[in-house]
Amino acid sequence: MAKIIDGKQISQQIKDELKEEVKKLKAEGRNCCLAVIQVGNDPASSVYVGNKKKACAYIGIESRAYELPEETTEEELLSLIEDLNQDSGVHGILCQLPLPAHIREEKVIDAISPEKDVDGFHPQNVGALVIGRKGFVSCTPAGIIELLKRSGIEIEGKRCVMIGRSNIVGKPMALLMLRENATVTVCHSRTRNLKEICKEADILIAAIGKPQQITGEYIKEGTVVIDVGIHRNADNKLCGDVAFAEAEPLASAITPVPGGVGPMTIAMLMKNCVEAMKNGSADK
Ligand code: NAD
Repeated sequence: MAKIIDGKQISQQIKDELKEEVKKLKAEGRNCCLAVIQVGNDPASSVYVGNKKKACAYIGIESRAYELPEETTEEELLSLIEDLNQDSGVHGILCQLPLPAHIREEKVIDAISPEKDVDGFHPQNVGALVIGRKGFVSCTPAGIIELLKRSGIEIEGKRCVMIGRSNIVGKPMALLMLRENATVTVCHSRTRNLKEICKEADILIAAIGKPQQITGEYIKEGTVVIDVGIHRNADNKLCGDVAFAEAEPLASAITPVPGGVGPMTIAMLMKNCVEAMKNGSADK
């Protein structure tokens, strides 16, 4: 039977640590502020934004919400971001994706100052990760490293197979595992012999965006299985990219869905925000 990696409990621990830290910083007169921009009213985005605001409130981070109408132009959005870049009272800027089709995501990502890019999407931060410099790291992969470390799972020297190569999960995750001295293989939709490669993994991370695709056939006995996927199954229940019931008896440790990777993403966003504030020296 696998150890269940409890992301809910670990993320709570991180939020409580941050709450303490923010309290101390406030006592020194330093307040942390996150600007959260949402364009349009996509229901999923509204849920994510709501959860981020809730986490800010819990920790003691001020959140400033910018709820813009669907028809906001790219120019207007970029102009708001520029104002927030210049505002020394704002430490982190987050623009909820996806954006309406008439706004180029790339332009928006590039416009956010790398020092306030708490999502870790700016090319400067991505580049810093590639060459091992300090910078903000995408929250979901950063959260997975925390999950592994806080669960006492050794990474160094392990064979890690990352399934998925997206900019926000797969690629940064592979780089972080490399930084932790794992031997990393990245698989994707055109990988041949996926099952065979997955079966070589000591740590298998699935971020493919397809419900319960990774069945028992992909998993070697004793593997640590990390499931990034979030879907609703036919019964409207949440499930991941991994077929949990098949994987769990084989794995040595596994993240459930829900309650595994999911809660870590927001906790790491909060961590990045506090970090951004500590990095900024002028603002009090
Ligand atoms: P994406 O669609 O951008 O990327 C999917 C990747 O999987 C691609 O690189 C593709 O090559 C690969 N892939 C697709 N089908 C494959 C197959 N059959 N075999 C091998 N590789 C295949 O997705 P993403 O943004 O990386 O997200 C992946 C999943 O994680 C989604 O379910 C998403 O909802 C979830 N997600 C969860 C969190 C969280 O906080 N828990 C955060 C981000 C994404």
